[in-house]
Amino acid sequence: MPSISASSLAGALLRQEILDLHAYHVPDSSGYIKLDAMENPYPVPPELRAEIAEAVAASAINRYPDPGAASLKEKIRAVTGLPQGQDVLLGNGSDELIQLLAMAVAKPGAAMLSVEPSFVMYKMIATFTGMRYIGVPLVSNAGADFSLDLPGMLAAIERERPALTFLAYPNNPTGNLFPEDAVAQIIQASPGLVVVDEAYYAFASGSFIPHLARYPNLLVMRTFSKLGMAGLRLGFMAGSPAWLGQLEKLRLPYNVGVLPQLVAEKLLAHHDVLLRQAEQIKRDRTQLYRQLNEIATVKVYPSEANFLLFRVAEATTIFNGLKQRGVLIKNLNGGHPMLKDCLRVTVGTPDENERFMAALKDSLRHG
Ligand SMILES: *Cc1c(COP(=O)(O)O)cnc(C)c1O
Repeated sequence: MPSISASSLAGALLRQEILDLHAYHVPDSSGYIKLDAMENPYPVPPELRAEIAEAVAASAINRYPDPGAASLKEKIRAVTGLPQGQDVLLGNGSDELIQLLAMAVAKPGAAMLSVEPSFVMYKMIATFTGMRYIGVPLVSNAGADFSLDLPGMLAAIERERPALTFLAYPNNPTGNLFPEDAVAQIIQASPGLVVVDEAYYAFASGSFIPHLARYPNLLVMRTFSKLGMAGLRLGFMAGSPAWLGQLEKLRLPYNVGVLPQLVAEKLLAHHDVLLRQAEQIKRDRTQLYRQLNEIATVKVYPSEANFLLFRVAEATTIFNGLKQRGVLIKNLNGGHPMLKDCLRVTVGTPDENERFMAALKDSLRHG
């Protein structure tokens, strides 16, 4: 009989920083209008479903996937308009690629730099991999909230010499796109790798893909999650083969399964359909922004992503009020201090957006 419990054994064996972590919380969303996770609200069109079902039925699930995923990569190159001489590395979602990059550069004392508030996985993965994390706060600049503090970033780069810098472009959870010129200055000033994270590329007006060849320390990361494939788990890193060839050594050989490869290929063959959905979401984002902006007690922030960040007097009350009315969004209150009383809503279908607005107005009136 063991004389020690599993939990005290875990307490003794695990690294302190792991014991101190809070797991990434995913709430139960069943039965709600789900506007919390930046998913594309539109299901795969029926004509495509049949094609996918047929391909899945004929696929070799008894075999390991193609580790090089050659034909999927070819599709990705095409729909991305990848410049000549650049390559892609596939990940099980882009989260996996963040982790892979951090593992690759995490020498003792190595630092990861980002802005705050931003995507929480950067900091979490720095912790997983034992990197020092540095977050430079965003600032209010010329009336624009959550602006990049360029002098602050350049000073942090000079002082900390980060091995790895992540810039979400547009930023999550604030939704804004940092000025291209400021991002370029950060890339040029950085002694380490700079990763421009374009998770929301389909909804944004800028990209660093065309600039990849210009900077030897630039990689661009994208995911198909926000474009309608969140369930597949597929992201990619674009950059020079010199970088990707090294990172490839860290990729677990079969990280993208047979089914995600196959289904993504079919969907990307109809990339235009997905982009049309993204265009619809952008139009609906404009309308939702206007509607939120009309409410005196709501402060809504401009967005180039498929979500809107907004501030109310008492975010947690409103969040719970929305939930009671069947609408699930994201409560950012209690996270970063700059996000006090902030909520984030994903742009849904026009019907979902209408029901969200009705529930919000009702909650603002009655709690
Ligand atoms: C959603 C998101 C990701 C992660 O996407 P997955 O491919 O689903 O892992 C990465 N970066 C940012 C900024 C995101 O918002």
